[in-house]
Amino acid sequence: MITPRRTRLLRVPSLAGLRSLLTGVVAALDPLTAADTFVIVPTRAAGEQLRRTVEDRLLATQATVTWPRVGPRSDFYRELFSRAPQPLALLSPFDREVILGRLAREVAASGIVPPFAIRPALVAEMLALYDHVRRQARTVEDFDRNLRAELEPAVETDRGAAQLLRQTTFLTAVFEGYEQHLNSHGLLDEHGARAAIVAATPVRPVRHAVVTVADRVAESDGLWPVDFTLLSTVPSLEQVDVVATEAMLAAGFLERIHAALPGLEEMSGSRAYSTVTNTVVHPRLVVPETEGAVTFQARDREDELAQVARRIKAARAAGDATPLHKHALVVRRPLPYLYLARSVFGGAGLPFETLDTLPLAAEPFAAALDLVLDAIAGGFSRAATVALLRSPHFQFDDVAGGLPPGSVSALDRALADARYLGGMDRLARLADTWSAIATPGSRDERKQHRAAPAAQVATAVARELASLAESHPVPTQMATLLGFLSRHHREPGEGVDVERLGRVRRAVSGALAALGRAYAEHDPDALAGGIELSSAIRRWLGAQTFAVRTGVEGVRLLDAQAARFADVDDVQLVGLVEGEWPERTRRSIFYPPFLLGLLDPTPAAEDPNQRESDAMAAARAMFIDLLGLARERVRVSTFSLESDAVVEPSTFVDDLATAGLERQVEPADHALAVFADEALVAEPPVIDALMPAARPWATLRLDRPATGDPRFSGEAGPWVFPRVSVSRIDRYLKCPFQFFASEVLKLEEEPDDEDAPPPLERGRFLHALFESFFREWQRRGRGGIGANEVPEARQLLLELSETALSSLPEAEAGLERARLYGSAAGAGIIDRVLSMEAERPGTIDRRLIEYELDDAFVFRRANGETRMVPLRAKIDRVDLLGGGGFRVIDYKSKNVPDLKRTIQLQVYTSAVAQQLHKSGDTSRRPFEAFYLSMEGPSPIKALKPAKGQSLDDVLMAAEERMVQAIDDIGAGHFPARPVPRSLCAMCPFDSVCRKQFVEAVAEATPDE
Ligand code: SF4
Repeated sequence: MITPRRTRLLRVPSLAGLRSLLTGVVAALDPLTAADTFVIVPTRAAGEQLRRTVEDRLLATQATVTWPRVGPRSDFYRELFSRAPQPLALLSPFDREVILGRLAREVAASGIVPPFAIRPALVAEMLALYDHVRRQARTVEDFDRNLRAELEPAVETDRGAAQLLRQTTFLTAVFEGYEQHLNSHGLLDEHGARAAIVAATPVRPVRHAVVTVADRVAESDGLWPVDFTLLSTVPSLEQVDVVATEAMLAAGFLERIHAALPGLEEMSGSRAYSTVTNTVVHPRLVVPETEGAVTFQARDREDELAQVARRIKAARAAGDATPLHKHALVVRRPLPYLYLARSVFGGAGLPFETLDTLPLAAEPFAAALDLVLDAIAGGFSRAATVALLRSPHFQFDDVAGGLPPGSVSALDRALADARYLGGMDRLARLADTWSAIATPGSRDERKQHRAAPAAQVATAVARELASLAESHPVPTQMATLLGFLSRHHREPGEGVDVERLGRVRRAVSGALAALGRAYAEHDPDALAGGIELSSAIRRWLGAQTFAVRTGVEGVRLLDAQAARFADVDDVQLVGLVEGEWPERTRRSIFYPPFLLGLLDPTPAAEDPNQRESDAMAAARAMFIDLLGLARERVRVSTFSLESDAVVEPSTFVDDLATAGLERQVEPADHALAVFADEALVAEPPVIDALMPAARPWATLRLDRPATGDPRFSGEAGPWVFPRVSVSRIDRYLKCPFQFFASEVLKLEEEPDDEDAPPPLERGRFLHALFESFFREWQRRGRGGIGANEVPEARQLLLELSETALSSLPEAEAGLERARLYGSAAGAGIIDRVLSMEAERPGTIDRRLIEYELDDAFVFRRANGETRMVPLRAKIDRVDLLGGGGFRVIDYKSKNVPDLKRTIQLQVYTSAVAQQLHKSGDTSRRPFEAFYLSMEGPSPIKALKPAKGQSLDDVLMAAEERMVQAIDDIGAGHFPARPVPRSLCAMCPFDSVCRKQFVEAVAEATPDE
């Protein structure tokens, strides 16, 4: 039986009228009628603003307020379900997705294959499409018929249409299967429950519904066609009042609401409720001083909020007594303003309040769960395992005595050195090997010894999580994960918002448990592990939101939906940029809008663009309404840059000119310091303006010496060079600060994961190979390698190479063999070295292989003085040449240093000459010195004197540089002075070297 009902459209002139009408609705309620009244608002945050507005008004004249049910459409449904004769138990979103996912797999397995891979995110999209169809009051059969009729004629000529048809066949089969499954198992979702509540008389009916939202065409939280049908047919609902502003009605909603609710009785709100004021509030439009400007312009969103904070603080300093909660910032969507407000307003000490929701996945605990998932999906890789051990959210150091400090860092390095690329078995073997080191002998063993406790903990963690990487039923996996989270939960430290963290933990655990239950009930045999499990969990966490309540009595940060219900004096509409005002409509990933438009029950399809222009008109109407929201003043602001990309202002800005608002010019007060950074740079700094926790640190920093102090330019004080090494001096010459960081401070570089041997290890392999070759060549009594000797030398090298390669792992040996022997595309290292031997001038008397320097050598200075420097080094080769000369050769695997910047080869050559002289070879003179690059672009890079210079001049210049560098190091001069400047691009110390000083130097020094 259909209940006779009165359906009214209550027209209000503005948002002020909307709020006074709703105040009238509530004021007229008594406890009995309030329980039977439901006010449908766009969101829960909007409901909270409405409660505040109405209570503020009514409690000024009466002691209590009898509050009706208030909530968005989903809450209205929940209320109706709870009042059904048999309370209806609905499937949760988890249940629905699990059921649909299982059916999608079954349909695909039956041979109706979709043109896409079935992934958790796509199952969610399929469900959204199904809801879209059903909420349009269409059946699955309508969906199939309409789309098929459009697509089938084009199948022969259009591959896209053929693909969409295949997709339609698949989706139809899944949707039909879903409906059959629910029917046969007596399960209910929103659509089944809607039919159930229309069919039965409720035990406690909702008798009066007040609708304050428009339809889905006008707003994303609006009502669907089935919702209007429900309002017309649900039993015992006696009165439906739709409240709308004149602007919204004029934007096309009037026609649509009449079509949706036939027999609608129209009247003005003031006729229905005497509380309604028909006057339209006209706040003043505040504009900046810039001539012709109607909006406040900011660089980016952060700057926009900073301008707001500065303005409000300046106004308050000048005596403006408007309470903070009467200021509202209206955003089209809350993110990222909610995050920015926390830092910007927090930094300015300006309280703000919000009732919006944030993505749960952005909360730190949810991010910590991501670390667990990364470790599982990444096979316990070094980076993922170390990040998990370091997470402050987990407690893993339950080994006897706890983890020693530095053990996790040592593990990080030891795993990188061991070229560990993941795998629990390998991790366990390494942990056992390192734990067995009783007395570490080498540097590597000391590192491994330190890493051993963390390696044991990492192994235990990996064992606990190992089953999650394998395929097991999802409920079992969820139970394992939940057990892990609860066993390793770490109590939060000081300064953590314990209440918020607790809520996040409960929300995350609740989502995991609900997902596990849904699988246990609807898809118990589904297996997941590793990547599938991670993607299913991430998809769920990504869809959850988390309510934040940020204080009270502060500036209100409101989204456009909630703002309509707020009673405020001063409003700023922020972020007026394209794509946000109006908001881009979210599109289905399966079909273009014109195809889904075929399912629209109101055949606006006569003009396919009608829906889009209606939506634009409604968005503009909402903007016009919001311009009139404030009692006193309204501002509009926009910004130019979003993530460094230029953004255009919204076209709504043009509407300001015709809005008919009186203007008020506001001079900007740039002088007022409101942020912590401004307080710090003030003269003198205002420490009291900082947050209490920051004050002691700021005081300490202020006590530091002035930046003119030489220590800021790298003057660290005298330092004793423990052992002079030419390669370290080369490093100093490249950048003294880099030397300081690595040699004095002993800062370690972040390790990288390498599956190939690092360059140093490869270099050692090649050095050893050629050392053994030349030793053997000489042992056989052979001397120089001319063109005639090359085949024999090549044969010997091939034999020795095979012996050396047999010590390498198979994959590495294959790669190294290709490099040594070359291919049809290019010569290998062996041929390169032998060509060099055959082509170099002079005959070789003897080769000194791995020639050792270990003595004090005399080095010359430009001023004629000399310096004795103890030096120890090993030179790859010194060839004693016929005619009394010698040649110094240094092997490099690939890249050779720039001879203008390095001193190594020159210093070695000087030292060799001295050592040969001491050994009695007094007439031996340097003939040449070069780097031999085994794989670089040019094989030889030799010392070349400039025009008019001798080789000895080159050596002397290098000696001077070395002695000067030794003096500078001893005196503690370590400025950040990179040569070349491009060195900084790959430098591991760029975050600690005060690059700003480098920039200052760079500006003053022309590039080389
Ligand atoms: S980033 Fe540049 S200036 Fe800083 S230490 Fe490295 S090389 Fe030197």
